[in-house]
This record gives sequence, C-alpha cells and structure tokens, in this order.
Amino acid sequence: MKANGVGAGRVVFVGAGPGQADLITLRGAERLRAADVVLFDSLADPALLALAPQARWIDVGKRGFSGVPHAARGGRENTGQDTINALLVKHALSGVNVVRLKGGDPSVFGRLEEELAALATAGIECEVVPGVTAALAAAAATQRPLTRRGAGRSVALTTAMTQSGDLVAGRHADTESFYMAGKQLAALSRRLVAAGWPAETPALVVSRAGWPDQIASEHGVGTLGDATVLHSGRPTVVTIGVGATAIGTSAEPIDASRMTTASATGAAPAAASSDPRAEARSSTP
Ligand code: SAH
Repeated sequence: MKANGVGAGRVVFVGAGPGQADLITLRGAERLRAADVVLFDSLADPALLALAPQARWIDVGKRGFSGVPHAARGGRENTGQDTINALLVKHALSGVNVVRLKGGDPSVFGRLEEELAALATAGIECEVVPGVTAALAAAAATQRPLTRRGAGRSVALTTAMTQSGDLVAGRHADTESFYMAGKQLAALSRRLVAAGWPAETPALVVSRAGWPDQIASEHGVGTLGDATVLHSGRPTVVTIGVGATAIGTSAEPIDASRMTTASATGAAPAAASSDPRAEARSSTP
C-alpha cells in the first residue's frame, strides 16, 4: 500500500496485550518508541506511556473518548468510531508516525476492519503488530491450555453480543472463549444450555486477566450466573469446554459450589477449599 500524499505518515496498529505493560511485544514497544502520536484505548495500561514519552497521547477509548458509556449514548456507537477513523487519517496525512494502540490483539474484536478500511481509502500505509488476546491471557493465568491432545482440537473466539445488543450463543468448538459477556453471564448460561452445551460443562470466568488483580472462578455452564457479582465491572472472558478444565481433572464435572478465586499477587484463594486441586484452580498457581 502506498501513501497518496507526499510525506504522508503511516499508522501502526499495536496490540497492547491484556494487562501489564510488559505483555506488549518487543516490536510493539519499538513502534511506540518511534511514534509521534498515539491513539489509545481505555484498556491500555498507563505504564505504557513510559515507552513513548516523546509522543502526543490521545485517549480514544470508547468511554474515555466521549466521557459517556455506550448505553447512555443511546447506541450511537458509530459516532465514536467514525471520529476515531477520521483522527487516524488526519494525523497520518499530517506526515507523522501514528500508533493506534489497542487492548489485547488488534485483530480480535478491535474494530480493526473499519480503521484499516478508512486508512486504505485515504491511501495511508499501515502495519499491524499483534498482541496477546484476552482468551490467551486467561489460559496462561489459570494454566489451562485451550487445546488438549486428543480432546480439544478446536478453539473459537466468540462474542455473544450482536451489533444490535442481542445475546446469541452456539456451539462452535471444543473450547469456546466468550468476549464481552461479563454483564450478562446468567443470560449467556441459558443461551449456551439451549444451544446444546450440557449444563455441567466446565466454564472458567477470568476478569482482568494479565493484571495484578486478575480473578478466576470456575463453574458449570448452567451456573455461570453465579460469577456475576465476583467479576462485576471488570473486563471478563468466559472459557467453556475442554480448555476450561484443570489439568489432571478433565474427566470430572466442575462443582460450582467450590468456586475458587485468587489474585495474581499469590494471595490465598478468597474462597478457601480443602480440595487438593484448589491450587490448580487458582489464577496464579
Ligand atoms: N482486542 C481485545 C478484545 C477487545 S473486546 C483482545 O484481543 O483481548 C473487549 C472484551 O475483551 C472485554 O469485554 C472482555 O471480554 C475482553 N477482555 C479484554 N481485556 C481483558 C482482560 N484483561 N481480562 C479478561 N477479559 C478481557
């Protein structure tokens, strides 16, 4: 792709990873060091500022940008996205190096297609630097591999939320990771059971994965609603199926009444359990 204007800048989409600044890739950090302008999301760790002190940082997180949450704006979400697209084009055309910093990986539920399309229309050169997406951070935090030899051959990254705000769920893979469903866990549970997931299927809920205060809890698909209060107000990913089972316990159904939580600081699980497997269930084994 060639830039149209003489001296036009370029835009690098950088995945910030899910949490602390050291989960960004070396390449992402390098692109930040070369940035003149950084457009960042509300999910990004403020510690990343130290990687580009020379740059002008602009908060375009969907909340931070307008100061008003989506729902309160009556669903006028596109206004924010259109403005972000226009800002990207404007800064790139002014001839500077622009970094568009996104939480997790830019290619996963990051509206990347719209921003790439806007820049392509303007003839602006782009690069995408991947990042650690939330589902992978949750798997790492809980030491529960998303694929399992012989039992877990497929993984789906899914959002249960449709554009119109409806909640839909199906059964697409041996392990399925749901994004953006933290506020509707009970409804998600009902939809999943209706879609054919047995109620006792293992379900793992991890909020703020990759942050020092990450929380993990385990349930059955039929009792996902039990996690609502624990993870309230936090970015949450829900893993169900084979990849939600603790290592060495895959044959057993999960008992939701023995839910275990722990913080990344290595603190004792909030809900103490005499079960010897409790440690394997914590977010920081
Ligand atoms: N591009 C991001 C996803 C953005 S959509 C990525 O690759 O991770 C926002 C959703 O991602 C949140 O609603 C939540 O479901 C999930 N999410 C983002 N960060 C998270 C985190 N640290 N822990 C758990 N879930 C997270």
